[in-house]
Amino acid sequence: MQRYERERVKKLNDLIAIIKIFSLFLIVVALISYMPLEMNTSTLTISILAVFYFFFFVLVKIWEIYSNKKDINTSLTKSHYLYLLFTIVFLTTIVYFTGAHESRFKDLYLLAIIVYSLRHGKKIGITTSLLSTLGVLFNDFVLNMHLSRNIYLESDIVLIGIFFMAGWIIGSMVETEMGFRKTLTALANRDGLTGLYNHRYFQERLEREINKAEEKNSKLALIMLDIDHFKFYNDANGHHRGDMILKQIGKLLMHYTRATDIPARYGGDEFAIIMPETNANSAQKVAERIRSNLEKFPFTGIENTLKRKLTVSIGIGIYPDNAKDKDSLIRAADEALYKAKYISRNKVELYFSVLDNLKKDLNQSDQKVIETAKTLISIINAKDRYTYGHSERVAAYVQLIADQLQLSDKDKRILKYAAYLHDIGKIEIDEGLLNKKSPLTLEEWEIMKKHPIWGADIIKSVQSLRCIVPFILYHHEYYDGGGYPFGLKGDQIPLGARILSVADSFDAMTTNRPYKAVAKTYEGAIDELQRCSGSQFDPMVVEAFLKVLKQKKSIGGLLTTCS
Ligand code: GH3
Ligand code: MG
Repeated sequence: MQRYERERVKKLNDLIAIIKIFSLFLIVVALISYMPLEMNTSTLTISILAVFYFFFFVLVKIWEIYSNKKDINTSLTKSHYLYLLFTIVFLTTIVYFTGAHESRFKDLYLLAIIVYSLRHGKKIGITTSLLSTLGVLFNDFVLNMHLSRNIYLESDIVLIGIFFMAGWIIGSMVETEMGFRKTLTALANRDGLTGLYNHRYFQERLEREINKAEEKNSKLALIMLDIDHFKFYNDANGHHRGDMILKQIGKLLMHYTRATDIPARYGGDEFAIIMPETNANSAQKVAERIRSNLEKFPFTGIENTLKRKLTVSIGIGIYPDNAKDKDSLIRAADEALYKAKYISRNKVELYFSVLDNLKKDLNQSDQKVIETAKTLISIINAKDRYTYGHSERVAAYVQLIADQLQLSDKDKRILKYAAYLHDIGKIEIDEGLLNKKSPLTLEEWEIMKKHPIWGADIIKSVQSLRCIVPFILYHHEYYDGGGYPFGLKGDQIPLGARILSVADSFDAMTTNRPYKAVAKTYEGAIDELQRCSGSQFDPMVVEAFLKVLKQKKSIGGLLTTCS
């Protein structure tokens, strides 16, 4: 929409520029035809001043035409009025030099009226007509007071009538067009159901707000909100009632946000709120207010839902802390939302990445590599939607095991980085293969089994991360030697890789994967860890993790304590 608006403004500016150039040409013609051949000293002085004034005026006009940046119909400033006054005085001078009350060039005022009413609408169109009238009358009366009767007065009155008609008609047409344009723009930017801004406008606006935040060096928060189990509500109450809920939530979002915030319907049952000049703390407060108020709201039809209430999960991303551009900010808020869904739903989560902490310890060039790694991880998340958020969760589980085993702070930190980056080699694997629903063929398995080697190769290039290479390389080795890629066993496998293997497998067991029907329950995953202790997993690591699992009681409990 903005693009069309810019194009419209450019076309109108071009048109006005042509009228202005044409006006200047006509003024020159008028002046030449009236140049007095013989002048006395005072006429000569006035003429020199007028010529000087004329060239100054031409220069200002040319500058204005070429700078051509002005928006059309912008609110009127003092300089607009001054400029208008300047134009009318100039035209009055031209009329004076071309015969004052006898001048045949009084209709030059019409050009100014056309330009000003085209650019600014009815009000300034009529103001220009009024000032032009004063100009004409000034030449008719003030400069010619000695005249007993001005025979041009009648034709001037007709001309003045035309001035007002032109200012009024052109100005009104411009305002009608402006009104239509505003209505159409509003319609095009709004979501038909909720009345909030739509996805397209949201994207456009977020880009603009991020640019503003960058200019002002301020923060911007993005909230992403998704209704929990909305499919269930629709199934129980019908789509029509579902639509009513979306509409109601739209209204409530308007109510619970500030006037400066920009709520939008992102799509389906997902909403987004752009919050300019907002830090993480304030965004969390607003999000929490929205969450708790929606939870309490007596929506119709909730009696047919499982928990007898309608709740939302919320993710928050902050610019520039979590993201450097629009897309990565949306990704950050979306990842936080996914985490809120994954942990328990009906929850607010602020984006958090292990890699942001890691960056503090690294030199500049390695920081760049980490930024790239972060992008790669989000690409894997997007490609492999079944393991979305997997790296962050594995990093959380690894941290709990490392705490239980009382590893040193340095080892814990290194292990966490390894956990975050352990699947980076999957970037080489095709999306179709990552999401394949049927069992993999032997050939496909061979490709899958390469990802630890590819991952290690990528990480080798980062000087300060060399120490995690063995963990990535061996995280699919089995304690009994039955794993891949090298079939190492027992203590041949570094402890970090053995820990990673348990954490990675626990998340795989408790997450839906394309090749298995349903994820295991928390208790089912505990049984499986116990069953494979000593064969696939190091018994010492399993024992440590089981202690934590028994304490925390749920995945939500595990993840909440870690972020
Ligand atoms: P989750 O807690 O994981 O978000 O569960 P969910 O059931 O809400 O799942 P998800 O957000 O993936 O599904 C969105 C559902 O929202 C699908 C559809 O039933 C419903 N939905 C999307 N757009 C509309 C709409 O315009 N009107 C209605 N009535 N329902 C919609
Ligand atoms: Mg939903």
